[in-house]
Amino acid sequence: MSQIVDQLADLTGLRDRDTLDVSLVTSIRDLVHPRSVAVHRVVGDTGDERWLTRAYLGAGDVAARADSSWADPRALPLLAERPERLQCLQAATEIEMPADQGATLYLPLASDSGVVGVVEIVTAHSLNDDFKRLVVGVLRIYRNVQGLLDYSERDTLTGLLNRKSFDETFYKVSAVPRQAAADQPGDRRHGSAGSYWLGVVDIDHFKQVNDRFGHLIGDEVLLLLSRVMRSCFRFYDQLYRFGGEEFVVLLRCSGEDDALAALERFREAVRGYVFPQVERITVSVGFTDVRNGDSPNAAVERADRAVYFAKNHGRDQVRCHAALVREGLLDDDKKAGDIDLF
Ligand code: GH3
Ligand code: MG
Ligand code: MG
Repeated sequence: MSQIVDQLADLTGLRDRDTLDVSLVTSIRDLVHPRSVAVHRVVGDTGDERWLTRAYLGAGDVAARADSSWADPRALPLLAERPERLQCLQAATEIEMPADQGATLYLPLASDSGVVGVVEIVTAHSLNDDFKRLVVGVLRIYRNVQGLLDYSERDTLTGLLNRKSFDETFYKVSAVPRQAAADQPGDRRHGSAGSYWLGVVDIDHFKQVNDRFGHLIGDEVLLLLSRVMRSCFRFYDQLYRFGGEEFVVLLRCSGEDDALAALERFREAVRGYVFPQVERITVSVGFTDVRNGDSPNAAVERADRAVYFAKNHGRDQVRCHAALVREGLLDDDKKAGDIDLF
């Protein structure tokens, strides 16, 4: 009994999603002693969704393993390649597969937005009802903790991450040496080497949208823009709304050309999207590399200066801070002062 209380205290005390998934599999292992337990989540574009293992623990494992959060999606199994998991996901109900050599229990991992993954528990014998109830109870607590994290880290209008959660993630990624980033311990699959890039997106002439159509329609544009963002970037890219009509993307890619291509694809997608009533909007985007030991403010300021340049040179374009410096169009050390330029 006291073990269960300890497990739950650990689980509810966490504020970090990666640790939360590890804590979930650890709790389940300590409670029901399975051969293995894993949390698999659905990631990827619609129609090409795949399984990402967020945490896996075998009976003798000292530490949990996971797929790299920036794994190449094409290297991950398609949903249909794990039919039992898929069945559990689609039916949103537990599925049990008894086998001569053991049993596998699949439980849906629910969030406020629906079923987002599956917990897979392999045991020597089928779990009895008491143990199942225990695991289902732990999953409900896990869901509540996730909900609280979402509430504090997400923007209420768009559901994107908010400014508050940005600094913490930024310090994590700017502290990872570039090559080591692709090769962290515990990764089962080594991701492609790369670096982090920060893009700031500002809607062009958004005041006019509000003035002509009203704030409500303006808000709808912000919401739809966030959906375009979600569809354009990879599951491991972090998307933020910094408030107002300023959005931020923390991208992982192999270099400046890749970052430019991803942001250009997004800019084009916005340009081609037909918004109800408003019809067309465009965005100006500035981006910069995230440097070792960078501060969030310094990186945002560099990207902001590239946005400012784009605004002054016709809008509806993507500009790279380092490229502007190379071309002599921006001073590297010049401070923009107040970062809220637009
Ligand atoms: P620019 O191309 O120079 O960026 O022109 P702009 O009109 O977009 O100028 P700016 O970025 O300075 O204006 C931001 C405007 O966005 C001001 C405000 O009317 C609007 N805005 C900020 N936050 C919100 C919001 O939450 N909802 C709505 N509807 N409008 C917002
Ligand atoms: Mg604007
Ligand atoms: Mg602005």
